[in-house]
Amino acid sequence: MTRWPLDHNVKAPVVTLPYGRQTIDEDDIKAVVEVLRSDYLTTGPKVERFEQMFSDRVGAQHAVAVSSGTAALHAAIFAAGIGPGDEVIVPPITFASTANCVVFQGGTPVFADVSPDTLLIDPSQVARKVTSRTKAIIAVDFAGQPCDYDALREIAEYHGLTLVADACHSLGGALHGNPVGVLADLNAFSFHPVKHITTGEGGMITTNDADAARRIRSFRNHGIATDHRERARAGSHFYEMVDLGYNYRLSDLQCALGITQLGKLQRFVDRRREIAASYDSALSGFDWAFPLHTREGAHHAYHLYVARIESTTLGCSRDQALTALRTSGFGVNVHYIPVHLHPYYRGRYGTVPGLCPEAERAYEEILSLPIFPMMSDGDVQSVIDAFRALGA
Ligand SMILES: *Cc1c(COP(=O)(O)O)cnc(C)c1O
Repeated sequence: MTRWPLDHNVKAPVVTLPYGRQTIDEDDIKAVVEVLRSDYLTTGPKVERFEQMFSDRVGAQHAVAVSSGTAALHAAIFAAGIGPGDEVIVPPITFASTANCVVFQGGTPVFADVSPDTLLIDPSQVARKVTSRTKAIIAVDFAGQPCDYDALREIAEYHGLTLVADACHSLGGALHGNPVGVLADLNAFSFHPVKHITTGEGGMITTNDADAARRIRSFRNHGIATDHRERARAGSHFYEMVDLGYNYRLSDLQCALGITQLGKLQRFVDRRREIAASYDSALSGFDWAFPLHTREGAHHAYHLYVARIESTTLGCSRDQALTALRTSGFGVNVHYIPVHLHPYYRGRYGTVPGLCPEAERAYEEILSLPIFPMMSDGDVQSVIDAFRALGA
């Protein structure tokens, strides 16, 4: 399917099973082609329709479509009113953009360590990092499992903080029966091709806060208070730019794809959960690899399937295991290098090894196995067989 690495001169192993991949059917293609023949290529009727379907699906009052998951996080941090001098608590086990969006607005990301069994942000570590400058918490539903929002909500309410969910991994998940999308004040999603549904690039923010939704709509359109269709309806040319915003719009072409994809979300999540169950039962037979723990009441959406490898028992390092599997054609991966260890963060904020010991220890041991809805049972078995061979 794809080659790894894509742009190296070194001879790369052919990866036949990537860790993630989109599912595109004929109806998705047809929906996009229809938009190409219509009057609107960008902001048109498909945007509103996709937003409406999405808010209905997660039970939120408002959904605002934007151009990526990163734009969704940036818009959430804007809506939370973060500016210079403000601190936002984030976990280190995540994609860098979770922390970057705080920096975009001039705020300071403060890293709180994860729980070792789930790799979700640890509420007791969050509580220890709150200062008089803290304004928000971003909880990352790592791998697809919702965080401990009961505990996080309590901390947020006590200190008057905005609770943001980076739900880029957890669309279709739930906590105690409440869908991801309503668990935090502002909830950010990504529609990158490896995520649960795709629009190529794309993202969404959901919220029950009407004022936040209105400000995010403006933020995605240069900070302009009205969009071109509203002006056309009013027969007026007049507009005012009221905030510093960006061009973070999601096009009608992309939203048409989002609409057909969203219709298949349940099927996609169900298949991911089936694959995860197969991996869980295979791993229960190894004494050198363990799945992450799923918390009571959590409905896991499995964007990733992460195994933790005990190198001393296995007799080889995680990197050696990764190389062996990739050489055999399995696109295993590592999610993630702790964000505070990236050169940018070390250089700018002086974050050093030892700041988040649980995340740093986990980083040495984690391996993401291929998981995506199009995998056949045979594909899943081939991953399990190759994984088992590591211990032989
Ligand atoms: C994918 C992802 C993002 C960024 O989404 P993009 O659509 O690629 O901008 C942010 N946070 C997490 C946890 C992600 O997995």
